[in-house]
Amino acid sequence: MITETFFSTERKCTYTLRNFRDHEAMAPIDLPAVLAGLTLEGKAALLGGSDFWHTQGNERAGIPAIMLTDGPHGLRKQAEAADHPGLSGSVPATCFPTASALACSWDPLLLRRIGAALGDECRAADVAVLLGPGVNMKRSPLCGRNFEYFSEDPLLAGELAAAMVTGIQSQGVGACVKHFAANNQETRRMSISAEVDERTLREIYLPAFEKVVTEAGPWTVMCSYNKINGTYASENHWLLTDVLRRDWGYDGLVVSDWGAVNRRDRGVAAGLDLEMPSSGGIGTRAILDAVAAGTLSEAEVDQATANVLTLVARSQQREPLESFDAQAHHALAREAARESAVLLKNEGGILPLDAAVGGAIAVIGEFARTPRFQGAGSSRVNPTRVDSALDSLRAALAGKRGVLFAPGFAIEADAGDTEAGDTGAGDDALVAEAVAAASAADVAVVFLGLPPSQESEGYDREHIELPRNQTEVLAAVAAANPNVVVVLANGGVVTVSGWQQRARAVLECWLPGQAGGAATADLLLGAASPAGKLAETIPVRLEHNPTVGNFPGENGAVRYGEGLLIGYRWYDAHRLEVGYPFGHGLSYASFGYRDLDVAVLADGAPRVRVAFTISNIGDRPAAEIAQLYVSDPAAAVYRPEQELRAFARVELEPGAARRVELELDARAFAYWDDGRGDWTVEGGEFELRIGASSRDIRLTATVTLAGDGSAAPLTADSTAEEFLAREDSRDWLTGLLAGTPLGAIMFDEAHGRMMRAVPLVRFSRFPGVPFSETTVADAVKRFTRPAGSAGTSPAPDPG
Ligand code: BGC
Repeated sequence: MITETFFSTERKCTYTLRNFRDHEAMAPIDLPAVLAGLTLEGKAALLGGSDFWHTQGNERAGIPAIMLTDGPHGLRKQAEAADHPGLSGSVPATCFPTASALACSWDPLLLRRIGAALGDECRAADVAVLLGPGVNMKRSPLCGRNFEYFSEDPLLAGELAAAMVTGIQSQGVGACVKHFAANNQETRRMSISAEVDERTLREIYLPAFEKVVTEAGPWTVMCSYNKINGTYASENHWLLTDVLRRDWGYDGLVVSDWGAVNRRDRGVAAGLDLEMPSSGGIGTRAILDAVAAGTLSEAEVDQATANVLTLVARSQQREPLESFDAQAHHALAREAARESAVLLKNEGGILPLDAAVGGAIAVIGEFARTPRFQGAGSSRVNPTRVDSALDSLRAALAGKRGVLFAPGFAIEADAGDTEAGDTGAGDDALVAEAVAAASAADVAVVFLGLPPSQESEGYDREHIELPRNQTEVLAAVAAANPNVVVVLANGGVVTVSGWQQRARAVLECWLPGQAGGAATADLLLGAASPAGKLAETIPVRLEHNPTVGNFPGENGAVRYGEGLLIGYRWYDAHRLEVGYPFGHGLSYASFGYRDLDVAVLADGAPRVRVAFTISNIGDRPAAEIAQLYVSDPAAAVYRPEQELRAFARVELEPGAARRVELELDARAFAYWDDGRGDWTVEGGEFELRIGASSRDIRLTATVTLAGDGSAAPLTADSTAEEFLAREDSRDWLTGLLAGTPLGAIMFDEAHGRMMRAVPLVRFSRFPGVPFSETTVADAVKRFTRPAGSAGTSPAPDPG
């Protein structure tokens, strides 16, 4: 039925277009012919929505309207008419763990399965495009929307998001990677200008998008609300066309974030194809006026229209589905929540709790009964069901161990108090009840977390502390019973300093989705071992974060002053102690790492194959997430101390061992060279570090790469030292200076270093120096290749 899925104005392609509403097949049509048959007005009209969630159809031309709706971790399809945001009242759908949780699974296969389940739910609800995943970097822990984002590391975010997109699209449903780009805060999100240099964009803020675009081919990309270096993302030609389409080869559609359009005509020229939601004709008018005025060409309108038609055609591949399997999806959500939890500490192996042996278990904290499992805003799902940890623990322990429950605190107690970390003093009666329960039990499991009002789309957080009324209950409970386990529910990160010494174990469950309660019980009672690892650093305190002083900006702009040093890159560079490092997470098993083998593949661009063995030296089945960091100790430019470049999740039975093989390509070693406007692999030594976390490195090896021949070329300003650093120019220069007074001083122990720091060309004007400006200029031309380059490797593929 579908004979072609890609459309370009050049090629003649035939599609079968169906009206998605009644799924009646329509006659095959020729899209270029459709385009040719449309008037300018007809084309401009297609570039905006018809309501809040649908594109414009054109019955005469056989173009159906299609639906795009939220959101990343579950479907949020408005139950009623599609003429408003519908923030409450959507159709029931499975609420999976949010991205900040899923990221800790480090499991692309899981993400792919979740994506396929989301695609299924879209099919059952006649939705053409799901608006997710969101891959913005966690620049500051204060971003109110961090719960919707994966990580502070671009590789991890990109890998997981690409897998999710592949899963969604496997069902004939489009994904929408968002919010492109540098949308790293909610404060003034619709107008703030992110002031950020290109190298930082290319190495930190863009690669997750790049990976999704180049590896998963999302049908749509959503531009963000904010400006980047003064230009709105929605009208940023560099971003939407030069980077996205030219550098990354993107062939899909760019849609605005809802309400992100400033000047619609500029948007079309920049590469923004579709404005959502409907602007009631304002956008169409602006396009037509601009074409009439000659500031926008009809060819640009055609290109955007072609991209809309391509999306519509792609969406017609979708096979309708009567209904989805809610039970199976709930089970998948439970598995995902289990994989996403991170066991931060486990003193004396207090966890897992024995389900069969022992006295009563005190379950304390309102979150055990009233789970907080998702965040607020456009991603809010109407779940098909919700499991509480309290019910799940009671069910699992029925007839074995008693469960005593005390709420301990009210979740939104006195939220008006704005002092950092302070949502009001605890309620004495609730505290006394919690202490009584803890005193009567063998162990107290205390459920703490962030009140929903403290993190949401639309505004940022003010601090990263747990509310005082909760830490007070913890202190009182710990005084009554030394066997305390804390279970956390929060989307953005919370500090553990100040209270974690009161708990023997801490299990970070994030916002675990609708099956989070059951998954938590599974982990606490040892039905499964925790395996998650942190996708972001837990700092000791907010003030250690690199954005302090540069967040959330002032006078309409936010300066990314920390540059490349976000997350662990900063904490490592500054040798800062952290609460828990990036990549950390414990297991009920333990793992050995051995036999590292590294091979540099000598065929073309640098490629390195890394192999090592992981063994489960514990006594239960469990999974380990091994991480590979690359460090470039001596580089021509500043480079972070180490950067995640690959990872593997391995499931192992007790006593079993597995060989892990990872391959690194040129990009794993490259930096963005602002001078050349391209990626550069500098020749020299790189250290490969295999770790159980970023601060628990188990194996290391050094490789020497030839480089790609483009690093640090000599220039007119190169110092004598730089000429001497390269074999070819060293021979030339030492020959030139041999027996001269300049030569003597250049290599003199007392002054040589100072002299070698002078640009070589400067010496040419000094009396008695045996070379001229022209001699140096000629030498610069002659010695174009950097030191250490074998000169045989092609430049790395920037894509
Ligand atoms: C959000 C998007 C969302 C859209 C539609 C916007 O406010 O930033 O992530 O997809 O609304 O609800």
